[in-house]
Amino acid sequence: MAMRFDALLYPAPEGLYCPVGRFYVDPVRPVERALITHGHSDHARSGHGHVLATRQTLDIMRIRYGEDFCGSEQAAAFGEEIVVNGVTVSFHPAGHVLGSAQIAIAKDATRIVVSGDYKRRPDPTCAPYEPVTCDVFITEATFGLPVFHHPDPAGEMAKLYASLRQFPERTHMVGAYALGKAQRVIRLLRDTGYNEPIYIHGAMERLCDYYVSQGIDLGELRPATVEGRDKSLFKGAVVVGPSSAFADRWARRFNDPLPAFASGWMMVRQRAKQGGVELPLVISDHCDWPELTDTISELHPAEVWVTHGREEALVRWCELQGVKARPLHLVGYEDEAE
Ligand SMILES: [Zn+2]
Repeated sequence: MAMRFDALLYPAPEGLYCPVGRFYVDPVRPVERALITHGHSDHARSGHGHVLATRQTLDIMRIRYGEDFCGSEQAAAFGEEIVVNGVTVSFHPAGHVLGSAQIAIAKDATRIVVSGDYKRRPDPTCAPYEPVTCDVFITEATFGLPVFHHPDPAGEMAKLYASLRQFPERTHMVGAYALGKAQRVIRLLRDTGYNEPIYIHGAMERLCDYYVSQGIDLGELRPATVEGRDKSLFKGAVVVGPSSAFADRWARRFNDPLPAFASGWMMVRQRAKQGGVELPLVISDHCDWPELTDTISELHPAEVWVTHGREEALVRWCELQGVKARPLHLVGYEDEAE
C-alpha cells in the first residue's frame, strides 16, 4: 500500500524531514542525520552528526569546511540503493555541479524525488541530469517565471572571446561562483579555443584543483596574485574570481579591468547595470522556465512540491496541466550560486 506522501517526507524548520528514516535532506541547521544533494553552502552545511552524500560532495564539503565537517560520513554511488531505518534512498545525477545529486526516497511503493538544484543543459564539468520517475517531484524555482529563457552558454562564451580580441589591453575580470560556475566558465572558454593561461583568485584554487583531480581538464591555471608582479602581466588576460572579491581593492590593482559576470541573473539587465557589469554572461546552473516545465511534463508525477524561488508561477502552471502542486516556502536556500 502506498504511503501518504507527507508521512514519508515533510518540510520541517530544519529542512525536508523523513520521520520514518529519521533523516533530513539539505538541513539548514546541524542535525543528527543528513542527506546532502550537493556542495553549495546553502545546501551543505557543517556540523551534522552523520552525512550521506556522493563521494564528490563529501570531498567538496571537506575542502570547504575542513576534516571535521561532520561526525561520520557515508558515500553513495549513483544508483546504489541504501536503506536508512527502513527507508530506501538512492542518489541520481542532477547536472548542477560536480557531485550534485537528486535524492530518491522510497517506501511501500511510494517514491519522492528531491531534486536539490538541477539543470538540463549540457555541462562538461558534471554528470548530466537523469530523469527519475516518482510520485512526488520536489523542485526549486529560482528561474520559475515564463520570462526566464537562458541562451546557449556557447554563445555567451563567444561574447567573452570576442571581447578579448576587441580589448587586448584590458584585464577581463570574470565573476563566477567558486563551486561549479567558475570551473564551467573556464571549461567553456577552453572549448572556444582559448589556450592562454587563466588566472584564478585564491578562493577557488582548491576547488579547481579538485575538479582537475576528477578528470575535468581546465587547461593552465595560475594564481591571480598581484603583489610583487608586473601589472602588465595581466594585460588582456582572463581573471576568474568570486564576484565579491571584484568589489574590493584586490580587483582595482589590475590593468583597466573589464568587469564580466557569469550568472543566470545576467539576463535581467537591471541587475547587470547595478553591479557595474560591463560584460554580462548569461550562464546558469539552474533550470530556466522551459527546462522546469519540460521536466515536470516528462516525469508527470502525481504531485509537485516547489521548495523556493518563484514558487507561485510554477505551482499555477502545474495546476493548469492537471498536476497537483504546492509551494513549500523553504527558507535558508539563497541562490548564491547564481
Ligand atoms: Zn546549488
